[in-house]
Amino acid sequence: MSQTPIPVCPLYIDGTWTTPDGVADATVFNPSRGSVIATVPMCGGKHVDLAVASAKKAFPGWRDTPPNERAQVLFRVKILLEDAFDELCLGISTEHGKTLSEARGDLRRGIEVVEFACGIPTLLMGESLENIARGIDCHTDRHPLGVVAGICPFNFPALVPMWMWPVAIACGNTFILKPSEKVPLTMQRIVGLLEKAGLPPGVMNIVHGGRECVDALLEHPDVKAISFVGSTPVAREIHRKGTSNGKRVQAAGGAKNFIILMPDADIDRTVEAVKDGAFGCAGERCMAGSTAVAVGEAAERLLPPLADLVASMKIGPTDVASGQPDMGAVISSEHRTRVAGLIDQGEAAGAKVLTDGRKSKVDEAPEGFYLGPTLIDEVAPNNPLMSTEVFGPVLAVMRAKTLEEAIAEANKQSFGNGAAIFTNSGKAAREFRRNVSAGMVGINVAVPAPLAYFPFTGWNDSFFGDLHIQGKEGVEFYTMRKTTTTRWFSFGDGEVWAK
Ligand code: NAD
Repeated sequence: MSQTPIPVCPLYIDGTWTTPDGVADATVFNPSRGSVIATVPMCGGKHVDLAVASAKKAFPGWRDTPPNERAQVLFRVKILLEDAFDELCLGISTEHGKTLSEARGDLRRGIEVVEFACGIPTLLMGESLENIARGIDCHTDRHPLGVVAGICPFNFPALVPMWMWPVAIACGNTFILKPSEKVPLTMQRIVGLLEKAGLPPGVMNIVHGGRECVDALLEHPDVKAISFVGSTPVAREIHRKGTSNGKRVQAAGGAKNFIILMPDADIDRTVEAVKDGAFGCAGERCMAGSTAVAVGEAAERLLPPLADLVASMKIGPTDVASGQPDMGAVISSEHRTRVAGLIDQGEAAGAKVLTDGRKSKVDEAPEGFYLGPTLIDEVAPNNPLMSTEVFGPVLAVMRAKTLEEAIAEANKQSFGNGAAIFTNSGKAAREFRRNVSAGMVGINVAVPAPLAYFPFTGWNDSFFGDLHIQGKEGVEFYTMRKTTTTRWFSFGDGEVWAK
């Protein structure tokens, strides 16, 4: 019996899909089954050069395309994305492992960025002031940067690339996307839709690879800006290398998001939200609420129902159109081993494992990369689980006597992406919001991830750069301003000319 060949992810350069020869491959898995679904070429400088040349060639024509015409392409791709919505979501679940409902959130949030970018004629409007001196006017307007590149993590195959390219190309830039080598298929399908929507060749390009490919982008003199999302060590390095090469860089890094549970919190809704915040997308979210601090009586009130809810969660394959579990697999077998190892370390440091995902088995998909939801209580402040980004289905709980102590614990760690509080006290919420050292705060919201119209405002070791991704800061990042001062040496009739 002949076997179906495993597809190779092509590059997309100058409007043409090509499969490079003589390049080593990485493997793309379906985490639900542990099976190989594609291979991805790990390219280097040669293919980056071709992609940059294509983007550079397309730039003058795209820059000169009126913003309302650029927006029309985005309106058309929005319709194509809606038409292909279910198929794309199943693809996201298959290459990532997240549930179909989580995949729908992934793509829906991405489509919202396209919708935001459809408003580009208004977003690009400049400012002007007449008569800054007698007979002299001044106005400032926005110009695209040129060729810009985006480097993405594995955890949101649709959303994170869509944080970048819709705004970048709407502003008139041309784009090179380097998807995560672990989940390259979703953006391959979406770029196919961009092509169908009439995006001119070279405006969007895809290269695949890892460090060598990224370094080639960081070193290329024709790449004007880099958007990066991924882990903190890589984000820090990309920001350092990119800025020292004279590029504009926005680099979003890892996270350790604290959730403060106050004794007066609404029990049922808090427990449900905390469960979703910690275990949604199997904890592989930069906004996962992975660390809870129970203040005073909150532990006694909230932990028993939370433990029951976590124990009732069903895990299983997500690559099916119906019969979805509550939680899917993690991205790889190596990642499962790493997360299980962190649970071991946390336990060895004295924490109490209430629900143990290390023992979970999924009979219908025995080769899948599963690790069940894990709830760990009595985690001491110096336990590694309090400071390390786990990025898996693990909720670590520590106890504190007061809100001040809880905020101090949250502020000890080096990251600063998200933080949330569950309370019915406006005073406690206000104190928390003002004093917690994180850029995105939730009040009775476990995952306070801002939508397309707002910037994604990570702080501290969760972000390197000046202008964040998304919203008007995204438009600011992908444009530079030009200020023109005008005087005409002809004389009019009014007073202003006479003087
Ligand atoms: P990662 O840092 O391993 O990889 C991200 C990207 O960088 C990939 O495209 C990868 O190919 C590339 N890369 C990896 N090592 C590199 C190196 N040494 N030099 C240059 N490029 C390199 O991250 P990941 O495991 O794919 O994603 C998970 C991480 O992303 C988590 O830390 C998560 O918190 C973070 N994340 C952050 C945000 C945010 O907004 N702050 C959003 C999503 C994910």
